[in-house]
Amino acid sequence: MRDFSGDHRWLSINTATLRGAGTLDTIIAACVRQGVRAISPWRDQVHAIGFERTAELVRGHGLELSGYCRGGMFPAIDAAGRRAALDDNRRAVDEAKQLEAACLVLVVGGLPGALAGARQSKDLFAARRDVRDGIAATLEYAKSVGMPLAIEPLHPMYAADRACVNTIEQALDLCEALDPRPDDDTAGAPGALAALGVAVDVYHVWWDPKLEAQIARAGRARLHAFHVCDWLVPTRDLLNDRGMMGDGVIEIPRIRAWMEAAGFAGYSEVEIFSAENWWKRPADEVVATCIERHRSAV
Ligand code: ZN
Repeated sequence: MRDFSGDHRWLSINTATLRGAGTLDTIIAACVRQGVRAISPWRDQVHAIGFERTAELVRGHGLELSGYCRGGMFPAIDAAGRRAALDDNRRAVDEAKQLEAACLVLVVGGLPGALAGARQSKDLFAARRDVRDGIAATLEYAKSVGMPLAIEPLHPMYAADRACVNTIEQALDLCEALDPRPDDDTAGAPGALAALGVAVDVYHVWWDPKLEAQIARAGRARLHAFHVCDWLVPTRDLLNDRGMMGDGVIEIPRIRAWMEAAGFAGYSEVEIFSAENWWKRPADEVVATCIERHRSAV
């Protein structure tokens, strides 16, 4: 396993971690000041300062993108909604490509209407069908431009409102059904990613008894991203009370060891939603803490 104790060259900052610190240019400046080489920006933060401005900053600072957040949210009440989701995913693929992101992360969506407070579906099976169809259509386009897609399974507590794909096993079943020949995707390019793979976020999958086996099953070509934070006990908010690595109960180094045993050699991307703690702190303090914990707890 790689030794992270001496430097942070394999640390990436997911910009959601600094959501409270200001706009994306402020966030990027803090990362650059502290020698962070990679980020993973969210589209709303990108659009808030303008796509061109973002591209300029990324290129100007020579930053790598360990991912681009996010596409997905495929299920919809009607055909028009499903079409709108596909259009939006196409735009997300284009943006990720222009920023040379390693992958576009897909949070696939849950029951239609759940987040909008609109007419609420209870049909989880229909939602999963929409997800499968939506990924298939987006994959076709993403393959044509060469942008890998990463399905991010979310903890089952989000099945209703954010993602009805909840385990690595379920995500890999989709990968194998929709993109059965990953070796073709990566032919001749050592280190290349399959067209469809997974984002392993320790917050969402740490509890899974099959985690080690499923990471091994994914193999190098389908391990597109590794997101880290920690599970706090107690957790006070289902969405926005994630912990800094080392402050909770996830044995992150063990999971990273499984990732690396399967061939993963990419960034550890720190992604912390923390409305009452880290989002209230200055960007430099948060980034400095991420660097320290990346060395000691990842
Ligand atoms: Zn994540």
